[in-house]
Amino acid sequence: MITVNQLHKSFGKNEILKGINIEIDKGEVVVVIGPSGSGKSTFLRCLNLLEEPTSGQILFEGQVITDKKHDINATREKMGMVFQHFNLFPHKTVMQNLTIAPVQVRKQSQQEAEKIAADLLRTVGLEDKRDAYPSQLSGGQKQRIAIARALAMQPHVMLFDEPTSALDPEMVGEVLDVMKKLAEGGMTMVIVTHEMGFAREVGDRIIFMDQGVILEEGTPEEVFSNPQHARTQDFLAKVL
Ligand code: ADP
Ligand code: MG
Repeated sequence: MITVNQLHKSFGKNEILKGINIEIDKGEVVVVIGPSGSGKSTFLRCLNLLEEPTSGQILFEGQVITDKKHDINATREKMGMVFQHFNLFPHKTVMQNLTIAPVQVRKQSQQEAEKIAADLLRTVGLEDKRDAYPSQLSGGQKQRIAIARALAMQPHVMLFDEPTSALDPEMVGEVLDVMKKLAEGGMTMVIVTHEMGFAREVGDRIIFMDQGVILEEGTPEEVFSNPQHARTQDFLAKVL
């Protein structure tokens, strides 16, 4: 589904991504771990072209999306993204948050969009919140709505950048449960997280990023139980 060839990204003279190569299959759950500042967010943001790669190539569903001629917006619609901070529209209800983009961007009728949104609210366990405003929701509920909002665009892949890092500990589980359910439903997912238990349980593949490269990758068993590089071992010793 996604192929990344020799992806480089610099900010000014600072080279942050130093040649990333990866292939992600349809239905695969790839979990990206690594120290702060290693380029994990930059990598995710390059995948959906929120950041313009300095060089290298990204293919998505057979199309070279890094081509200048490529329609970036069409691709972004197919890649849902969930950030650490939920950034819901504060003056709109949950239902409005979920339907505004499908109606305006995907040209769905309000009725059709609301039907899909109602299903998604059930999926994330918040069907009783359709008329609530974001300020009336807990952090965990807001993040579940943010996931539903991304799903409302019917993306082909979901990108998550530390979706539970800003949550109170007691709310982390409810968000991870929604993500787990998505994974079990066959969604293709790329997830940056520090939740190692979740990574081990839900990830098909673990990517360890360090200083702008993929230093090590493998199954959860391989990376967590038998890390090959000293830097992977150091990192895991600190977070496990
Ligand atoms: P991670 O998500 O692994 O913590 P990031 O991708 O956020 O790492 O950041 C990697 C490095 O890139 C950091 O040193 C950060 O300061 C730098 N960086 C990220 N975004 C920008 C930007 N827009 N402009 C300049 N430097 C940036
Ligand atoms: Mg980050």
